[in-house]
Amino acid sequence: MENLIRSAFQKIASSLLVVTLFFGCTIEEEKQVWQKGNLHTHSFWSDGNDFPEMIIGWYKDHDYQFIALSDHNTIADENRWYALTKQDLENKVLEKYKTAFGAWVEAKSDTTSTRVRLKTYDEYRGLIEDPEKFLIIRSEEVTAAWEKKPIHINVTNIQEKIEPAQGNSVVEVMQKTLDRVYEQRERLAIPMFAHINHPNFGYGISTDDFKKLNGERFFEVYNGHPAVNNAGNESHVSTEIMWDLINIHYLNQNKPLLFGIATDDSHHYHTFGADRSNTGRGWVMVQSQKLEPAALIAAMENGDFYASTGVTLKKIEQTQNKLTIVVDPEVGIDYEIIFLGYQSGGDDVKELARTKGVKATYTFGKEDLFVRAKIISNAQKDSPPNTKETKQAWTQPVLIRP
Ligand SMILES: [Zn+2]
Ligand SMILES: [Zn+2]
Repeated sequence: MENLIRSAFQKIASSLLVVTLFFGCTIEEEKQVWQKGNLHTHSFWSDGNDFPEMIIGWYKDHDYQFIALSDHNTIADENRWYALTKQDLENKVLEKYKTAFGAWVEAKSDTTSTRVRLKTYDEYRGLIEDPEKFLIIRSEEVTAAWEKKPIHINVTNIQEKIEPAQGNSVVEVMQKTLDRVYEQRERLAIPMFAHINHPNFGYGISTDDFKKLNGERFFEVYNGHPAVNNAGNESHVSTEIMWDLINIHYLNQNKPLLFGIATDDSHHYHTFGADRSNTGRGWVMVQSQKLEPAALIAAMENGDFYASTGVTLKKIEQTQNKLTIVVDPEVGIDYEIIFLGYQSGGDDVKELARTKGVKATYTFGKEDLFVRAKIISNAQKDSPPNTKETKQAWTQPVLIRP
C-alpha cells in the first residue's frame, strides 16, 4: 500500500515536472537568446598594437560573449618573443600589461631591446575564457594578394594554420583558400567557416569575383577599419549593394545566399579617432542558446544572426509568410525598419517597405524571392571611422519559398 501511494506521488510529481518543463520551454522560446561577438581583431601576433590578453579583456568587459583574434597568417601557436618598438614604449604597453596581468607577463631586456613573450592561443584562452559566459575562438586572417590586390579571408574556429594561396587571378586565390578551409573542416570533422574580409579595401575584390566562387557563404558588409571603403566610390559599389548583386546571382545559380557580417578589424588600442581602427564598431549577434563554436557556427550558417554597428534587436521572427523585426531601443533614438527584396523579373534589390518605429512586419508577396531587413537610426556612434555614420543593423536575407 505504502509503495502504491509512493508510486502515485512519484507519477504526480513527474507529470508536474513535465508541465513545468513544457511551460518553461514555451517561455524560453519567446525570448530569443543573442550572443554578441567580434570575429576580426588584431594583436601583436601581427599588426595590432597590444597583447592578446589586453584586447580580449576589453571585449570581455564590454558585454561581448565571444571574440576571435584573427591575426595575419598565424594561429598564435608558436614560441614568439616580441620586441617592443619605440611606438609601443610611448604607448606604455608593457606597463599597462603588467598592471593588468602581473606575474603572468614574461619580459626580458638587454642593452638593445625589451622582448615580451606572446602568449599562445591555448595559454590566453585558458586564462581568460569563462565557460558559458565568454568564449575565445581560434582564428586566422589568411592574407594573400594578387597583383597587389589584397585578398584577406578570415577563418573562424580554424585548427591548423592555412597558408596564403597563390594563383592566376583574384578568384583563383579566393577559391583555393575556401577549398583549404573546407578540406580542413572535413578532415578534422570540426565546424569552421571562412568569411571574406573588406572586399573594397584597395578595391581588391569585385562583385564579379564573388559571383564565380563556389562555397562562399559569408563576407563583411561592414568593417570598422577606416581604410576599407564600405561605402564604395564613384566607380565601385558599396559592400551592401555588392551583397545584393551577389545574392541575385547566387539565387539564379541555385547557390546558398551570402550572409553579411560586421566586424571591428581593430588594430589600435591606445589612440582613438576616425583615422584609427578601434574596438566596438561592428559585431554580430548570433541567436544561440549555447555559447560554443559548433552552436554559433551552426546558427550563423542557418542565417540566425544579424550584423550591427550599434542597433540592438529584441527579435527577428520569420514564418512561412512574414518577417517581423523588433528593435531593443535606446532612449531618445528614432529608428526606421526597411525591408529590401529581390522579386521575380527584377534586376536589382529594391525597397519593399519602410516603417518608422521599433517594430515592423513585412508580409511576403508572391513576387518576392529573397527579403532582408536593414534597421537605421539617428544614434551617433561612440567611435566611428566616419563621422557621418549612424548606428545600424542588417538581418540576413531569407529565401521565400512558395
Ligand atoms: Zn584585412
Ligand atoms: Zn584584419
